[in-house]
Amino acid sequence: MEEVKKDKFLKPEYEVREVEAPDGSIIKVDPLNDYYSQEKPEPYKVKEGPVEKFLNWARAESLWVLGFGTGCGSIEIPPLVTPRFDMYRFGVQMRATPRQSNVFIISGYLSVKTLKRAIRAYEQMPSPKYVIGLGSCTINGGMYYDSYNTINRLDHYLPVDAYIAGCMPRPEALLAGFGELKKLIKEGKGHKANEYVENLDWYKANQRKIIKDWNMPDYNW
Ligand code: SF4
Repeated sequence: MEEVKKDKFLKPEYEVREVEAPDGSIIKVDPLNDYYSQEKPEPYKVKEGPVEKFLNWARAESLWVLGFGTGCGSIEIPPLVTPRFDMYRFGVQMRATPRQSNVFIISGYLSVKTLKRAIRAYEQMPSPKYVIGLGSCTINGGMYYDSYNTINRLDHYLPVDAYIAGCMPRPEALLAGFGELKKLIKEGKGHKANEYVENLDWYKANQRKIIKDWNMPDYNW
């Protein structure tokens, strides 16, 4: 690996550095080119006492889901907006853009090509935000565990708040998953997005390791 040069005029957080990927290999991370923001993102500051409790209650009862199906499991999402399952009665609704959404359902296997889009979409979502891994493929790769172009551990690339197991999980399982996510948020345990920000180098190293054409544009978070 080529040597990492130090720039004495750069703030330390912008310096190129080497970090360890899950398989133990060393990856070079260049924050100014690899991150999509002009400024390094800040974690959400959790408030004290009843204020945060109230906010968590409000967040849990208003889940806005990004309408972005990544794998075959996404076919189980449309029934939720029919009268039979009617997810609106639980305060869950679909939105068309990441800027309007706070829940991202990764609905099954994620190809490397789609992962790139998923990262871009996730980072545009406002915090606090939550990720649900839908189906076995997000947990361990499922039936695509040894596929050459899909990831098999979603949580190595994006922070996952809740998993819904199955292949493919039925709409009832999705509703139960929303219920579990709501419980987590109300208990103040829905801050995985902070882990993403706090461990950005680790996530970026993992993402860069498999996304070979890393030509991402800059985004403000
Ligand atoms: S878990 Fe099953 S249904 Fe879901 S994406 Fe994987 S193969 Fe498809």
